[in-house]
Amino acid sequence: MPSADPLVDRMRGFGTTIFAEMSALAVRTDSINLGQGFPDTDGPPELLAAAVEAIRTGHNQYPPGIGIVELRRAIAGHQRRHYDLDYDLESEVLVTAGATEAIASAILAFAGPGDEVVVFEPYYDSYAACIALGGAQRRAVTLERSGNGWRFDPQALTAAISPRTKAILLNTPHNPTGKVFDAAELSQVAEIARQRNLLVISDEVYEHLTFDGRTHIPIATLPGMRDRTVTIGSAGKTFSVTGWKIGWVTAPARLVTAVRTVKQFLTYVSGAPFQPAVAQALDAGSYGALAGGLQQQRDLLCDGLADLGFDVVRPEATYFATVDVQRDAVEFCRELPHRAGVVAIPSSVFYDSSAGDTLVRFAFCKRPDVLAEALRRLKEAAP
Ligand SMILES: *Cc1c(COP(=O)(O)O)cnc(C)c1O
Repeated sequence: MPSADPLVDRMRGFGTTIFAEMSALAVRTDSINLGQGFPDTDGPPELLAAAVEAIRTGHNQYPPGIGIVELRRAIAGHQRRHYDLDYDLESEVLVTAGATEAIASAILAFAGPGDEVVVFEPYYDSYAACIALGGAQRRAVTLERSGNGWRFDPQALTAAISPRTKAILLNTPHNPTGKVFDAAELSQVAEIARQRNLLVISDEVYEHLTFDGRTHIPIATLPGMRDRTVTIGSAGKTFSVTGWKIGWVTAPARLVTAVRTVKQFLTYVSGAPFQPAVAQALDAGSYGALAGGLQQQRDLLCDGLADLGFDVVRPEATYFATVDVQRDAVEFCRELPHRAGVVAIPSSVFYDSSAGDTLVRFAFCKRPDVLAEALRRLKEAAP
């Protein structure tokens, strides 16, 4: 007789996500969904046309396991042009099924039972699930609110590391806080990684979605770090095509080989017609305009929330703004669709500690008219 719940022990607690609950609630209450982090407009028309053309011209069978050469060349070119990082397109670049598969493959490649992975909380939800899938343990270091930003205590980072730690999982620009780690902070992370001989998995999917002239710094550019860092990027965020699931890894050959060993048994390959399209777009560098539009959307939402009396932290990058609602965030988010017809996500689900209990995440990667209507509705829930 099979047991009532066949789910393997290590995945218990990852059943129904808050995203599924809140999206269902959004539909049921006809709410504006500012929970989910995907844009409601399409990526650049040339990019879409290139994918259509690729389907028409026969790019529809399994691409090479490592990704098509044009895309690997474009990724290597992108890292060189923007960051002066050199990667060999034959052995140091890997195309994945979105950043999600890159993250999963890297974690599963490096951390197994008895191992630990250090993450910054709030953390992206797939990190916790993948660490659990691998049978490893996560150790969270809190990004503390400080005025209109977020900081971590380097001593807390040092304290989170044990002899079992295999890797530090970094995410900059950071979801959900919108923090861009600056050079000094990255130096602190790098110093600890070097001292303790740790790998760094660096999720940089928002690298081009920074605001106010801020620039993203890959941790692989810091002294001694290229050799121990797996850098992850994604076309989904860079080009506003989140459904395409084209991501990539750049790292030294021995790390790419390890990640690829896992990756080949997850999806093997994906996205044949999207790969040439993304290659063209990366070569053309056609992503500058997106951040400008997004910055205006950030201002619209953040100014509007502040005018309503909400305590909002203005993000430096990404799709998300955080509001401290000064009461239980899960309760607030469950009520919000009924009170105001808007859905948001309680950031508390991205924490192990109680530091995020009153924090709520709003996505602003939505059309200005949608944000304006959401703000009109949110008057009902103003403090
Ligand atoms: C969206 C997102 C991802 C997933 O990227 P895909 O390319 O869609 O798989 C990974 N990390 C963070 C922080 C994200 O916000």
